[in-house]
Amino acid sequence: MDHIKSAIRTIPDYPKPGIMFRDVTTLLGDAGAFRAAVDAMVFPHAGKKIDKVAGIEARGFILGGAVAHQLSVGFVPIRKKGKLPHSTLSQSYELEYGTDEVEIHTDAIQPGESVLIVDDLIATGGTAEAAIKLIRSAGGEVVGCSFVIDLPDIGGAKKIEAHGVKVASLVAFE
Ligand code: IMP
Repeated sequence: MDHIKSAIRTIPDYPKPGIMFRDVTTLLGDAGAFRAAVDAMVFPHAGKKIDKVAGIEARGFILGGAVAHQLSVGFVPIRKKGKLPHSTLSQSYELEYGTDEVEIHTDAIQPGESVLIVDDLIATGGTAEAAIKLIRSAGGEVVGCSFVIDLPDIGGAKKIEAHGVKVASLVAFE
């Protein structure tokens, strides 16, 4: 995992002072690190029943698309409000200041399908929690959430596990 961690760039004070932004674009641009990250996200799920991978906009699309391809299953985008063209289910979630909303197509998941959620990073877990609610409202069962990065001091993984969903991450930053 050292190769994966060292391929992630940290941008201090982005998007605002005091935030250490963990930038996975450098990991995605490194052939070996990208491959190793996707393999490590897929490995725990090999041979298990997964029908779809749901990726959270926007970096979750890149990682989730690769994970879905490797598991030979379909991909479902979870997008910010107003971006999906067909009828949608919506879920709002708390930000530090205010709220945001994510959406899924109403017909993206068939009742009873097993879905793996993928994103680049979990912080508070608010985004992933909203994704879980969307998938469950669409009739799917969430089999796990997979991230490249966890920020364990913020406690998002614990929040997700309280919903009965397992969380896997490849590296942690303070
Ligand atoms: P949460 O909802 O607080 O868990 O925040 C996670 C969401 O915010 C994910 O969709 C991430 O892509 C994004 N995010 C928050 N902090 C960072 C960061 O340092 N680097 C990359 N993405 C981040």
